[in-house]
Amino acid sequence: MSQIIALTNQKGGVGKTTSAVNLAASLAALGRRVLLVDLDPQGHASMGSGIDKHALDASVLDVLLDDRSAREAIIGDSPAGFDVLPGNGDLTAAEVELLQVDERQSRLARALRPLSDDYEIILIDCPPSLNMLTVNALTAADGVLIPLQCEFYALEGLSALLGTIEQIQQSVNPDLEISGILRTMYDKRMSLTREVDSQLRGYFGDRLLKATIPRNVKVAEAPSHGLPVSHYARFSRGSQAYRVLAKEMLGRLAL
Ligand code: ADP
Ligand code: MG
Repeated sequence: MSQIIALTNQKGGVGKTTSAVNLAASLAALGRRVLLVDLDPQGHASMGSGIDKHALDASVLDVLLDDRSAREAIIGDSPAGFDVLPGNGDLTAAEVELLQVDERQSRLARALRPLSDDYEIILIDCPPSLNMLTVNALTAADGVLIPLQCEFYALEGLSALLGTIEQIQQSVNPDLEISGILRTMYDKRMSLTREVDSQLRGYFGDRLLKATIPRNVKVAEAPSHGLPVSHYARFSRGSQAYRVLAKEMLGRLAL
């Protein structure tokens, strides 16, 4: 049985895609069978995994709309050691097209079900909004990983996300859990960071992950080479941080 984890935060630029790619690579490096699903029309998770998003035979959109099976669209054998169900700009049409199909909310869940024995972990990189694609991710997921930056407005944006998670729990996916709150681009020397830290700990308790991801130039550079930071700059602080995160996640997911 695979554990499906959605990386979600409707705020852009908080490190969802970066964390999805690098966590996938670090989990794969620890010997896990990992699939990364790119559900953002920007296709950055695909590109960051070394895939040309303009040259796809099939994308996750074809899978959502039932034209292809997930297995047909998955790209395996990436240099980073994990498989990718890629996405690209075609997904911008999904919002409208999904409205016209049955079970529009559970399309991704249904598509991923046959893969349950193929992967131990499936990570879903969500778009920066609470749209039908994100709803599909939350419907398919066992857990949510919420990346955020420790800034003044970090918590304010969370209430809409927590509301959506609650709605999904109350309707289609009662077992959906918050698997972790991940602090990205983290600098504990800043006093604001410490303030936000203590608010997060007060609110989320031990769902606040111990692992934090520092701001690190190698992490920012790696996608332009189509590589996770573990392959681009193995000994960088960013690479180490994602390795620590992967181990913590495996412990939490009891994998
Ligand atoms: P999101 O997917 O939430 O929109 P991204 O993962 O695309 O966010 O990150 C936003 C920007 O911040 C990108 O340019 C990325 O390279 C950069 N970034 C993310 N994490 C780090 C980090 N730990 N150190 C430095 N830059 C980072
Ligand atoms: Mg993104």
